[in-house]
Amino acid sequence: MYIILIIVILLFIIIYCYKHKEYFINKNQLNSIDSLDYQIITNWDEAFEILTNENYLLSFNKSDFYARDIIPPNQDTYKQIIRHKIKDISSSEDKAFRWMINSVKELYPAIVKSSKSSIWNHYLCDFKIIKGDQIDERMPHTHMKTIIFDVEYFKELVNNHKKNEINLMLMEQSETLIHEMGHLLERNNPIINNFFQDVYLELGFLPIATEQFINIVPDKFRFRIRSNPDELPNLQYYWWKKNQDDEDFYLPLALYTSDKPKYLTDTEMSLLIFKEENGKYIYQKKINIEDSDYYKFLGITNNNYHPKEIVPEYLAMWYLSIVEGGALGLDMTSKGFKIFETLVQKNFPI
Ligand SMILES: [Zn+2]
Repeated sequence: MYIILIIVILLFIIIYCYKHKEYFINKNQLNSIDSLDYQIITNWDEAFEILTNENYLLSFNKSDFYARDIIPPNQDTYKQIIRHKIKDISSSEDKAFRWMINSVKELYPAIVKSSKSSIWNHYLCDFKIIKGDQIDERMPHTHMKTIIFDVEYFKELVNNHKKNEINLMLMEQSETLIHEMGHLLERNNPIINNFFQDVYLELGFLPIATEQFINIVPDKFRFRIRSNPDELPNLQYYWWKKNQDDEDFYLPLALYTSDKPKYLTDTEMSLLIFKEENGKYIYQKKINIEDSDYYKFLGITNNNYHPKEIVPEYLAMWYLSIVEGGALGLDMTSKGFKIFETLVQKNFPI
């Protein structure tokens, strides 16, 4: 009799735990707030390996080399040049970075409360940093668990630290940090990764098979796509549909404006429009992202050309709107942001 009772109680506990598994995961994550830390890569060989990983270099097309002034445009030239762009992080820069991390940690309870979501607790994982001198035009970016910040980023951070300009640091450097850490979450955290895949779908993004992508995207565009380390290691393009009934498929891409661009910013954020006819996708035309319903739907002015950029941008802007009481560049009433916000709050409750 007792045995049956114990089995029944155990079954109830198991069913309860299963139904509330996300809740339990979140509770465990909450304990890790104090353990968030970063590691500076001081070994230049290790930094070099990260910056020149094969997966990344294979994603380059010729324009990617030209845009970085890598001439002749090949991997060997890239490797020679990149070696001289790795810099040491000084103790004052390390102190300033720690000041930023500690300030963000202190804000966490308020951010969780205000956003009505515990998703932020998943941010609290260890990461690595590299200081680069004009790597990728000073734009911060990521490889696996590493974030690359430019010398200028550290310069401004140290300045803010010296003057104790907490607000400026929160608005600028910490917002960048939150965006970049969003990329680490997308690739290194299985719970978040699975959740983000659902978010992309709910926002209207559908993955395109590589073979299909090669077949339908005209070569003149395919060889002008700007490579982005933040979308790796599993490169996946998505197209977007306004709604189920709409016949058009919109493929967002960051395209170089010429075959030999001078800068990484010689790009236009574009939408290639396709129509489905008898199971085939036919290219129609190219328009600027800014002139589209897609742009209005998402409600962000930057980083809107790939779902793996959109989600970290939403998180960073949301964070900024909480710590600053407003975020330029984010329309918090846009349909896209509302879908995102609702999903996050539902799946990661307080
Ligand atoms: Zn990004």
